[in-house]
Amino acid sequence: MHSHLIKDLLNLEGVIVKKVSQSSEDVVVTLETKPTRQVCPACGRTTSKIHDYRTQYIKDLPLQGKRCFLELRKRRYTCRCGKRFLETYPFLARYQQRTVRMTAFVAAELHEVQSVQSIAKRANISSATVNRILDTISYDRPKLGNALSIDEFKGNAARQKFQCILVDPRKHKVLDILPDRNSIHLAQYFKDIPRHERLKVEFFSCDMCRPYVDLARSYFPAARIVIDRYHFTRQVFWALENVRKDLQRRMAVDRRRYYKRSHSILTKRYASLNEEQKKACDIMLLYNDDLRRAHRLKEKFLEIFNIRKFRDQRTAFMDWIEEAHCSGIKHFEKCAATFANWSHEILNAFRFDFISNGPTEGFNNKIKVLKRISFGIRRFDRFRTRILLTTT
Ligand SMILES: [Zn+2]
Repeated sequence: MHSHLIKDLLNLEGVIVKKVSQSSEDVVVTLETKPTRQVCPACGRTTSKIHDYRTQYIKDLPLQGKRCFLELRKRRYTCRCGKRFLETYPFLARYQQRTVRMTAFVAAELHEVQSVQSIAKRANISSATVNRILDTISYDRPKLGNALSIDEFKGNAARQKFQCILVDPRKHKVLDILPDRNSIHLAQYFKDIPRHERLKVEFFSCDMCRPYVDLARSYFPAARIVIDRYHFTRQVFWALENVRKDLQRRMAVDRRRYYKRSHSILTKRYASLNEEQKKACDIMLLYNDDLRRAHRLKEKFLEIFNIRKFRDQRTAFMDWIEEAHCSGIKHFEKCAATFANWSHEILNAFRFDFISNGPTEGFNNKIKVLKRISFGIRRFDRFRTRILLTTT
C-alpha cells in the first residue's frame, strides 16, 4: 500500500518497497527488485536462473534526521558455465555497503571548507568512511598557464612545517600543493613537468628567496622573475614598525602604550586616515625625527604604486633606495640594501603589475581555516586533496 509513494520519496530506480520500519534512531526500508535476465560476467551469456538470496544492509542518506538503511534481498544467479554471481544495481557500486548517492553526497561536501567529522555527522557515517571516499578522489595538476607563482604556508602537514602552493596568478587558480619546500624536492617536481610546458611560462612570481629564483632560472628559462609586491612592501612596513618599537623602549609607560595601541595610524596610508586620525598621526610624528623620516619613507614608497608610467616608477624606486640608504636609520638602510639586491625583480612587479601572489593570499586564508578544523593533518595526500577540492 502506497509503496509507489515511498518509492518516489526514496527516489531509487527499479525497486519495489516491501516494508518500512523505524525506531527512534533508524529507518529501515526493505526493498526488492524484479528478477531480470542477467549477463554472466564470466562467459557473457545471459541467464535467469536464481541460485539463492542474500540480505544486505546498505547505508543511505539520512531520512527525517534518522539513519537510513536499505534492506536488500540480493539475488545470486547461476550460469550454465558454472559461474555464480550477484545481481547488480544502478544505485549500488560493487562491493560497497552504501548507496551511490551517499558517496556522491560526501564527495560534494568535501568541496566545502568543513571538517571530515562534520561531513560524517551529516551523512550519518563514520569519519573513516568519509576519508575512504576522500582517498578515491585523485587530482592531477592542470597544465601550466603563462604565469606561475610559488609561495609557502605553515601547514604542519605530515610533520613538515611548511608546504608550498603553486598558483596560476592570472587565472586565479591553485595548481598544486607540494609536501615541503626542500629545493631538491621542488627541482624534482619541476623536472617532471614536460619542458615544452615549462617553456610557456612567461612570468614566475615568488618571494625574495634565492632557492626559488634559482629554480625558476633552471626550469622556467623563458620566465621573467617577479617579486610579489606584498612580500617586498612588507619590508618597508617592518622597517617603520621597528623604528617605532625602538623608540617605544625609551618612552614612559603611558606614552609607550599609546604608541603601541595606535601603531596602525602610522602604517596606514596618510591619505586614507580621517581628520581626527591625521591629527593623531601628526602629533605622534612630532615626537621624533627618525619616526617622522621613517613615516615619510613609507608614504613615499607606497606612492610609487600610484605613478602611471613604468619609467617614472623606476626612477622613483631607485631614488627611494638612495634616500633610504642615506637615511641614517639602520632598519631602512637594511631595506635599501635588500631592494638594491633585488631591484630588477622588484621592478618587474611594477612593470608587470598584473602578476602578483595576491590570489595566493586568498587561498592561504582558506587553507588556514581548513587546517584549524582538521584537528592536525597526519596525511599530506588527504590535506592536498582537500585544499584542491575547496579552492577549485
Ligand atoms: Zn557464464
